[in-house]
Amino acid sequence: MAKTLPLKIHPDPILRQKSRAMTATEITSPKIAELILDMEQTMHEQKGIGLAAVQVGSLLRLILIATKDGSLPLINPRITWHSLKKEVGEEGCLSIPNTYGEVKRWVSIKVSGLDPHGKPLKFKAQGLFARVIQHEVDHTNGILFLDRTKVVKTMEPSDEKTKP
Ligand code: ZN
Repeated sequence: MAKTLPLKIHPDPILRQKSRAMTATEITSPKIAELILDMEQTMHEQKGIGLAAVQVGSLLRLILIATKDGSLPLINPRITWHSLKKEVGEEGCLSIPNTYGEVKRWVSIKVSGLDPHGKPLKFKAQGLFARVIQHEVDHTNGILFLDRTKVVKTMEPSDEKTKP
């Protein structure tokens, strides 16, 4: 049974650490399969649209992105190309409750990484999908959206929106 994991909340110093790449044998281990299921449940329960392993205390380059077809796990994700064009959008973060800011992100990106079976994945992402991936890849490098915004707004929990 998957379980909900406690979230690391800013300013927990773990959120500022760099996550390490996962090895081929590690990716297919039962322990990682369990971590992915637990992260899926945690993201779903928190109404998140993305989650990085560091947010539940594992310094591994593993992120989950919510899509209309379910959650997409990405291991050792890399942004291999990006558009010149950027756009501003409002972001929040499960690790920074009730806080939002306008963040400039690339409009479209190309991403490569591995799936939970260790198979290579390559795809193009745009708009909100691309934004969430950039936000989560930042987490694997110890970067928070607060570092990329000048205006930070706080909101009551009742007004909360979905956030990565
Ligand atoms: Zn976040």
